Amino acid sequence: MYSKILILNFPPREAQKPLVCQLTKKYDLLFNILLAKISNQKEGYMVLEITGEKANFKKGVNFLKDQDVRVSYPEQEIWKDEEKCTQCGSCTAVCPTEALHIKRPEMEVLFDKEKCSLCELCILTCPTRAMGLFSKTPEEVM
Ligand code: SF4
Ligand code: SF4
Repeated sequence: MYSKILILNFPPREAQKPLVCQLTKKYDLLFNILLAKISNQKEGYMVLEITGEKANFKKGVNFLKDQDVRVSYPEQEIWKDEEKCTQCGSCTAVCPTEALHIKRPEMEVLFDKEKCSLCELCILTCPTRAMGLFSKTPEEVM
């Protein structure tokens, strides 16, 4: 199984169409929307994780591009510096995808990078600057 996070930018005329649903219907791909901002008459933005057969993944991406959707891959990744983290839990309150969550009863703050939508809210919130961004190499991006 192949899994990848994609960033989609929809032009205004495509923003209201259920194009992402077609990925499942046409190409048997599963999608998990990590972040979405779509407003009427304006460009839409979506970050989603797509899972499925690699050949179908490529077909699905080509389908989106054919619909004038701009498809890109995140070039940066969020990281958590365990040495700086004080387990205060502040980041878990703002994380929209539960990528940052508290493990109970240990009360340990865990980071699941697969769920991260790169919204950067944790970076703004963390009092010890334990959360940060780093750039991937071109090989890591693809
Ligand atoms: S960037 Fe931080 S707050 Fe946003 S989804 Fe990722 S871990 Fe959560
Ligand atoms: S806000 Fe920062 S210090 Fe607090 S739990 Fe999250 S990463 Fe750790």
